[in-house]
Amino acid sequence: MDPADRDLFLQFLWTRDETDSIDTPGKLKDWLTGLGMLDGDEAVTEDDVRLARHSRAAARAMCVANSGYPLDPRTHLAIEELNARAPLKVTAGPAGGLRVEPGGSGVPRALARFLAIAYRATVEGEFGRFKACQGCGWAYYDESKNGSKKWCAMGLCGTRAKMKAYRERKKAGA
Ligand SMILES: [Zn+2]
Repeated sequence: MDPADRDLFLQFLWTRDETDSIDTPGKLKDWLTGLGMLDGDEAVTEDDVRLARHSRAAARAMCVANSGYPLDPRTHLAIEELNARAPLKVTAGPAGGLRVEPGGSGVPRALARFLAIAYRATVEGEFGRFKACQGCGWAYYDESKNGSKKWCAMGLCGTRAKMKAYRERKKAGA
């Protein structure tokens, strides 16, 4: 998939760590305008914030499902709502064939861009590489050859999980 699209999708997933960078209209606006996804003169409402957070939760739930866990049932509703507010449009691609683009306007249109990226990645057979780390829950893109990675950041979490299991076994034995 397009590396710029991949990175943009990860940026969206990473808006929440210890803090949330899109949980007020002001913060959501700053985040979207900073990425050039929204004009500075667009109004951003509390309802936009709710839509953004639901969309992010859906994106995250799909990463968790890609890691082998059941899909959060709320995901379908979140995707339906976003697609109702800013329906994806089918257009002719630059080199023939078809592609999907976000429709709508304002914040919903900006958020629909993530839906378009996820859809394209699905068609290209690469969406399953967006995963959630089994150690810390951090979302990442699995670039390994066979797509079998389970942990984020170069196995750091995997090592931590193994150490923890080792300590627990030792404690249980003692
Ligand atoms: Zn991790």
